Amino acid sequence: MEYVQLGRGDQRFIRAVEEESGQNVGKCYQCGNCTAGCPMYFTYDYTPSRLMRLIQLGQKETVLSSRAIWMCATCEACTTHCPNDIEVARVLDVCRHLARRQGYKGVRNVRLFTDAFLQSVRWHGKSHELGLMAVYKLFSLRFFDDLDLAPGMLRKKKLPFLPHRVKAHAEVADIFRRYAAQSQSGETGREIGEKKA
Ligand code: SF4
Ligand code: SF4
Repeated sequence: MEYVQLGRGDQRFIRAVEEESGQNVGKCYQCGNCTAGCPMYFTYDYTPSRLMRLIQLGQKETVLSSRAIWMCATCEACTTHCPNDIEVARVLDVCRHLARRQGYKGVRNVRLFTDAFLQSVRWHGKSHELGLMAVYKLFSLRFFDDLDLAPGMLRKKKLPFLPHRVKAHAEVADIFRRYAAQSQSGETGREIGEKKA
């Protein structure tokens, strides 16, 4: 059994999560509603409520190396169910960002898919499904996964061959630039937001 060393938590980690998410993690009283409403918890190593407790205790290593922060689909059901109005999905999102910035590997294929998706959005302002699929399959070597879905999607014109660029693609690209600046300087998203405002 794994024991949490109380009193040996990383206070800077707690502050970073709270600052970047704008949430007070101390408000969580472990009711478990977030876990009860989570459609992905069966894939997690730690449930959302356990992650909240681990964050309260400053267990940075456990949280940032967890599988759960990568398997979260950001559906926000946990946020909706929280009686204390804690934006749990946002807290987990911040943990994922911290994990990236601090060099944690994450779940390889989820990360590959996320990176391919983000790159597509960065280039076109929205995802180009066929390009995204091609990049993901190339790097993950999972060439034959879900191929049976392709004919139906092509028939319904859900997989256009050429990408369509949205009008506001420059604004979308600016979000990526701000994130890159934030990662390099170590500033929090909140600080960047304040500077821009
Ligand atoms: S946002 Fe993530 S943790 Fe929250 S309910 Fe959805 S999948 Fe679960
Ligand atoms: S629903 Fe809110 S208060 Fe309850 S365990 Fe989850 S984060 Fe904590």
